[in-house]
Amino acid sequence: MRHRRKGQPVTTKHITHWIAGKGWTGGAERHGDVYDPATGAVTGQVDFASADVVDQAVDAAREAFQQWRHTSVAKRTGVLFAFRELLNARRDELAAVIVAEHGKVHSDALGEVARGIEVVEYACGIPQLIKGGFTEQASTGVDVYSIRQPLGPVAIISPFNFPAMVPMWFFPLAIAAGNTVVVKPSEKDPSAANFLAGLWQEAGLPDGVFNVVHGDKAAVDRLLEHPDIKAVSFVGSTPIARYVYETGTRAGKRVQALGGAKNHMLVLPDADLDLAADAAVNAGFGAAGERCMAVSVLVAVDPVGDGLVERIKERIKGLTVGPGCAAGSAMGPLVTGAHRDKVTAYLDSGVADGAELAVDGRGHPVTGAEGDGGFWLGPTVFDRVRPGMSVYDDEIFGPVLSVVRVASYEEGLALINANPYGNGTALFTNDGGAARRFQHEVEVGMVGINVPIPVPVAYYSFGGWKSSLFGDTHAYGEDGVRFFTRGKAITQRWLDPSHGGINLGFPTNS
Ligand code: NAD
Repeated sequence: MRHRRKGQPVTTKHITHWIAGKGWTGGAERHGDVYDPATGAVTGQVDFASADVVDQAVDAAREAFQQWRHTSVAKRTGVLFAFRELLNARRDELAAVIVAEHGKVHSDALGEVARGIEVVEYACGIPQLIKGGFTEQASTGVDVYSIRQPLGPVAIISPFNFPAMVPMWFFPLAIAAGNTVVVKPSEKDPSAANFLAGLWQEAGLPDGVFNVVHGDKAAVDRLLEHPDIKAVSFVGSTPIARYVYETGTRAGKRVQALGGAKNHMLVLPDADLDLAADAAVNAGFGAAGERCMAVSVLVAVDPVGDGLVERIKERIKGLTVGPGCAAGSAMGPLVTGAHRDKVTAYLDSGVADGAELAVDGRGHPVTGAEGDGGFWLGPTVFDRVRPGMSVYDDEIFGPVLSVVRVASYEEGLALINANPYGNGTALFTNDGGAARRFQHEVEVGMVGINVPIPVPVAYYSFGGWKSSLFGDTHAYGEDGVRFFTRGKAITQRWLDPSHGGINLGFPTNS
C-alpha cells in the first residue's frame, strides 16, 4: 500500500470499487500501485476500501438480496446464460486485462478465462443442481421434501495469480443459487474483477447482486466481521487462509479457505522420460510457477534422476521468456518486483543449504522486453534437494523446480504424505497397478495420473487437503452448490377429520 503520489503520470488508470451497479465516486484515503510486470512501470492506482466503503457494498448486496432471492430460477438462469455469452465474446479482451497487470502470457490468460467459463456453464444448470428430494407418504398421509435456499450476501476474497478464474470458481454458483456477492480481489491485479462486473450488468444482473471492493487487510477484516456477510470463500496463502477461516468462523460465518501448495510430481522408473520432462517443464514454469497447482517438486525414483534433469535442462534452453503480450513468449515476468526479489533470494539460500543449482534462471535471456525494469527471473532448477532446505520446505511460488531423488515408490509416497501441504500431486508411470495404489495411498486432494496439473473440471470440486484447505467444502461442483445454499426439510400433511385427537407422544411413522 502507498499513498497516491503527486506528479504520477496522468496516463495511469484509476481503479475503484463497484457498488450497486456503478463505480464508487468517493475519495479513497489509501491507494495501491498497480504495475505492468513486463516493464516494471506503475500503470495505475487502485483505491483501498475502508470499513465504511465495505459497509456500503454489503448494504447494496443486502438490499439486492431481497429481490434476487425471490427472482425465479428461470430468470436467474437467463442472466447466467447471457453472462456466459458475453464472456465468450469478450474473452480475448479479458485476457489482455489480466496480462497487463499479472504478466502471464496471453494464451495462459485465455486458459484461465476458459476454466472460469466452465464454472459459469455448470452454474447455468442450477435448476437441476438445487432440485430437492420428495418422499410421498413418508407416514400415512404425510409427505416429506427438501429444498435448498440461498444464504444472503457472501464474500469472495481472491489471490493475484488467477484474477478472473478464482473469483469465477465461486460467484457463478453463488449468484445462480440466489445469493448476492461482494468480491475482494487481489490489490495486485484488480481490473479483471471490474471487467467482470461490467459484463454482469450487460447480461442483465440487477444492480447490487455483484459488487467489488478493492483493498487489503482492512477490507478483508471488515468483511470477516460484518454481520450481514453469511459466508466467505477465500483463496490465498496458507497463513492468511488459516486466519480467514478462524476469524470468519468465530464470527459465525460459513467459511471455505483454500491455502498454499507444494505440489510433488512422482516419476517412476517405467515412465516415459520425455513425456515426464515435458510435463515437469510445463507444470513447473507455466505462469512463471505462480499457480497453486504448479509442480514445484519433482520426485525422481532411482535411476531416472539424471535422465530427467538432463531432459529438463534441454527443454529450458528453448523456452522464450518475455512479455505476456508478445506472441512468442512462453513465460512472462513475476507479478511484482518484491515477489521477484523474494523468489530470487531462494536461489542463494538453496545453494547455501547444499542443493545443486542445475539451472540458474538469472542467466536466462529475456526476449522483447521494453527497458530493463521488468520483474524477470528465468526457469530455475535445483537438483538433490532434501526436506529441511528452504527451497523444499517453503512455498516459493515462482519458476523454481526442486528435484528430490528417492530410492523407491514407497520413499516418494512417504515424502509426499509427510508434506504439510496437500493441494495437488501427479504420478508419471505406465504401470496401472502402481497408479491405482498411488491414488489410494496419497494424502492429497487432487491427483493426476500422467496429468501434471489435475485441476478438476467444473462438475467435480477443487480443493486440497491438510494446510491447503481450511473448512470442509471444496470449491465449485457439488460442494460449491452445497456451500452457497442451506437445506430445509418440510414435513407436510393436508388435514382431514381423521387427523384430530390429542396425542403427546413423539411423532413416529405409521
Ligand atoms: P495472499 O494470501 O497474499 O492474498 C490473498 C488475498 O488475501 C488477497 O485478496 C489479499 O489482499 C488478502 N490478504 C493479504 N494479506 C492479508 C492479511 N494479512 N489479512 C487479510 N487479508 C489479506 O495470496 P497471493 O499472494 O495473492 O496469492 C498466492 C497464494 O495463493 C499462494 O500461496 C498460492 O498457493 C495460493 N493459491 C491457492 C489456490 C488454491 O486453490 N489452493 C489457488 C490460487 C492461489
